Amino acid sequence: MPELPEVEVTRRGLAPQLTGRVISGVAVREPRLRWPVTRDVLALAGRTVKTIRRRGKYLLVDCGDGHLILHLGMSGSLRVLPPETPAGKHDHFDLLLGDRMLRLRDPRRFGAVLWVAGDAAAHPLLAHLGVEPLSRSLNSGRLHALTRARRTAIKQFLMDGRRIVGVGDIYASESLFRARINPRMPAKRLSLEKSEKLSAAIKHTLRAAIRAGGSTLRDFVGADGAAGYFQQRYWVYDRAGKKCRRCGALIRKVLQGQRSTYYCPSCQK
Ligand SMILES: [Zn+2]
Repeated sequence: MPELPEVEVTRRGLAPQLTGRVISGVAVREPRLRWPVTRDVLALAGRTVKTIRRRGKYLLVDCGDGHLILHLGMSGSLRVLPPETPAGKHDHFDLLLGDRMLRLRDPRRFGAVLWVAGDAAAHPLLAHLGVEPLSRSLNSGRLHALTRARRTAIKQFLMDGRRIVGVGDIYASESLFRARINPRMPAKRLSLEKSEKLSAAIKHTLRAAIRAGGSTLRDFVGADGAAGYFQQRYWVYDRAGKKCRRCGALIRKVLQGQRSTYYCPSCQK
């Protein structure tokens, strides 16, 4: 599943290809995505792409008077291709831009293509999203304030998109390792000092993933292969029973809210 770093790398790959281009047409081959693709999406021709932003895992194609909201869902990928490229079975949506097009491939159809007139921030899907982890809004003071009175385990708190957006399973485990915090600790016990360490760890972990994905940027243009989800070397994620890369203790796996959490019992007491 694409996580925030994949979405951000996608944004960076697409932005120079799309910015300033006039939308020449739209092709919707399968409107039954996570939400139905509505008729207003078909009326985008003639608008100019001003820029592409990201909010959480949503990509926002800014057309001046509104935004095309794109989400990759469970299995989606976006590619810039020559406009005559034949569509495959799972190529559900094309945004035509003259001599190129943006194509959404989404085998499981959990992705989204939505139009919102005006300010995208007010859209129901975006209005309740939490703090953007790579922005200055996430800092030790904010994280400390957000965790007050939260009895939930810190790992699950991190994954709650209404508090902080886009920190998925992998990056929550990795960030907690880096900050040396036990994933089962109640969020409200996070000290100000640990808040500092954890907010820095979240940013570091996400940025490292984005850097790792930077080498796959070319895959977003021209290629037509599998989605460019990138492999990384993890400290704890998916390493149960293996030696901690820092101390040599064996990494443990526990279930939290039906999800696996990985941690080092020695580094994260
Ligand atoms: Zn360790």
